[in-house]
Amino acid sequence: MKIDKKRKMSHTDKHRQLRDLPGVDHILESIKDDDRFFEIPRTVILASIRSILEKIRQEILKDNKPEIQNKDIIEKTIIMAREKIKNRLIPVINATGVVLHTNMGRALLCEDALENIKTISQSYSNLELNINTGKRGIRYSAVEELICELTCAQSAIVVNNNAGAVFLALNTLAKDTQVVVSRGELVEIGGSFRVPDIMSKSGCHLKEVGTTNRTHLKDYEQAITDQTGLLLKVHTSNYKIEGFTASVGLSELSQLGKKNNIPVMEDLGSGTLIDFSAYGLPFEPLVSDSVSSGADVVTFSGDKLLGGPQAGIIVGKKDTIDKIKANPLTRALRIDKLTLGALEATLKLYRDEKQAVRKIPTLRMLTMSYEQTRQKACALEKCLKKTIEPYALVELADLESRPGGGSFPELKLPTQCVTITPKNISVAKLERNLRLATPPIIGRIEGDRYILDPRTIQIGQDEIISTTLGKILLKK
Ligand SMILES: *Cc1c(COP(=O)(O)O)cnc(C)c1O
Repeated sequence: MKIDKKRKMSHTDKHRQLRDLPGVDHILESIKDDDRFFEIPRTVILASIRSILEKIRQEILKDNKPEIQNKDIIEKTIIMAREKIKNRLIPVINATGVVLHTNMGRALLCEDALENIKTISQSYSNLELNINTGKRGIRYSAVEELICELTCAQSAIVVNNNAGAVFLALNTLAKDTQVVVSRGELVEIGGSFRVPDIMSKSGCHLKEVGTTNRTHLKDYEQAITDQTGLLLKVHTSNYKIEGFTASVGLSELSQLGKKNNIPVMEDLGSGTLIDFSAYGLPFEPLVSDSVSSGADVVTFSGDKLLGGPQAGIIVGKKDTIDKIKANPLTRALRIDKLTLGALEATLKLYRDEKQAVRKIPTLRMLTMSYEQTRQKACALEKCLKKTIEPYALVELADLESRPGGGSFPELKLPTQCVTITPKNISVAKLERNLRLATPPIIGRIEGDRYILDPRTIQIGQDEIISTTLGKILLKK
């Protein structure tokens, strides 16, 4: 009896609370002169109001005390609506020192590429129009000659990304046949690209040879049968096997292919057009070297060491590339005009290596000397000390940055960094608050220090970092 009464009480109470909730129209009416809502589309305001009211209603029905009171509905609406109209894809400050960071968009485009994207996309273009004949033209002819000039290849085609390039080449050259690959080269790149998976999706049968650490020419030789359609070499771009190792060079493999009339392909991953060893970095295989080794087809990314837009570049012998061009899948993987514009502008810079290194952000950051990082670190340190000195220890430290993005496995670049040891909050909280700031600042933690690596911090970002840190540390 007692329980019944209580239930009844709460029932009427619920009823009253639900009845007291303002209606959507009522809320709309009361904000109609509120200029904070003027820049927000009505659909967004409506959706926000409805979702807030629904949330309160659910709480009432569950007998919980709603977190949002009726008098706060308008304030909550403006917060939610502003959140809804924010862009989801936003710039972040990369203070990790990882130059090619796949999670943060890999290569930054050079000015020339940005300008060309604007020029090409604001206007109609000859994307697939041959100006000379007035007939239909070929999309990638904008870059084919240039790529051939820079890599010494006979022919080239570009597609959406390197994974697409590998897929397309495998599907064209080796569908329903066996593809011979060394066990040591069955790599996974960034979780979603695995050589064995892409192989089976493209309709090829994987024939593994050798062992994880050693593969010899005779392993390939013995694997060749009348089922063999392709010999594949994959550049192990994100790891390194050390110690007792052996692998077969592309030249040897190409000769073997020629002898047996089987095409040879190399997936270079992050192909480069310049010799990084001239800048004190380890040697990374050049695309032109792979081409001159005699491979029939070589694939590489546009947005790794090349420093251009996301793209997959396929170069090689004319008859092989012609077959790839004729594959209907090419259409499904085609490069869009913005990318093509950016790629052409980036590639053009490579005609003068000095210019490329100066103007292409990826090359500039990778070849940045320790001394240059020291100067940048000192400037940042000075800027930070002004704002956060009493709340954190700001120091310089000799650390290392990593190129990332499947290039230069294991390489560490000597870099002077700025370290911050907060006094009032934990370093984990500092990391979190910087990450959630606008714009987000992404750095790394080492021990109880937060590390800002100047190698990937861009011009003008010192002030933003300093202001953001100030806000976080001063209010705790
Ligand atoms: C990065 C990489 C790929 C994938 O290239 P995307 O351009 O990211 O599609 C494929 N193969 C190798 C060896 C790579 O390093």
